[in-house]
Amino acid sequence: MQRWLESIHARARARLGNGHVASYIPALARQDPGRLGIAICTNAGEVYAAGDARTAFSIQSIAKVLLLALALRTHGEALWQRVGLNPSGMPFNSLAQLEAERGKPRNPFINAGAIAVTDRLVSAFATPDKHLQDVARRLAGNATILIDDEVLESEWQHRSRNAAMAYLMKAFGNIDNDVDAVLRCYFSSCALAMSCADLAVAMNFLAAEGEARTMGERFVSPGLARRLNAIMSTCGMYDAAGDFAYRVGLPAKSGVGGGIVAIVPGRMSICAWSPALDDSGNSVAAQYALELLAEELDNPLPMA
Ligand code: GLU
Repeated sequence: MQRWLESIHARARARLGNGHVASYIPALARQDPGRLGIAICTNAGEVYAAGDARTAFSIQSIAKVLLLALALRTHGEALWQRVGLNPSGMPFNSLAQLEAERGKPRNPFINAGAIAVTDRLVSAFATPDKHLQDVARRLAGNATILIDDEVLESEWQHRSRNAAMAYLMKAFGNIDNDVDAVLRCYFSSCALAMSCADLAVAMNFLAAEGEARTMGERFVSPGLARRLNAIMSTCGMYDAAGDFAYRVGLPAKSGVGGGIVAIVPGRMSICAWSPALDDSGNSVAAQYALELLAEELDNPLPMA
């Protein structure tokens, strides 16, 4: 299995050199586009890692899955009064739709949707950012996971567009809490620094009917895990969710740090990371690694 993963990593390296690293904040613009990591966590708890899979990176929008899982745990189905469930067909940071749809974001994986979801967590927890960090640590089984302060501060400095969305939602009554508090928490989630191995382990509950082996407990119900996978399939890859679904066929969530988490329900969770992105904001080499991996999953897997 280890050698199999390394051969996929070697083949995916062919795509390095394409795309561009995110440039909206200095901490992301500085990333080395030559990095590529892949990690797998099987439902039996075995972890395999290749390339730069142990290097922590900014998880960015991958955090939206954790935010959503936590908000559904605390607020249940009532959450869907605040945010919709359909692909947006618009860029992840678009304001136009939000105005037209009276402050209800299309889905929880565009920025406005994740900010509305974060508002629910700010209502539910005294220190929601600490809670999120703690959950990430416990899911990943890694107590050293941190919120990267430099990324957090840069996000805050460049918050205009996300702040505009949050204020618009507040004007429509879809944000209950202080906008700054909600934005700080949202940016803290984007600024979580985790490696491919951390993310593959942390997201394994989605492959294992909600069971988080590292926590020794069920994190979400089997039905909720199934639904989270469904939302990842329809909305997880920005505007390219349809293309990715056809090419790879796995529920996935990507972030502009270059990470992509993909789930093989009943079998394993995967994270691939490489910082250079295509025009939709998805990592070029990480997508290709997942495409190769998904193709090979159709064949019997090597056991050693
Ligand atoms: N921190 C980013 C933003 O809010 C998240 C972007 C992303 O990964 O999609 O603009």
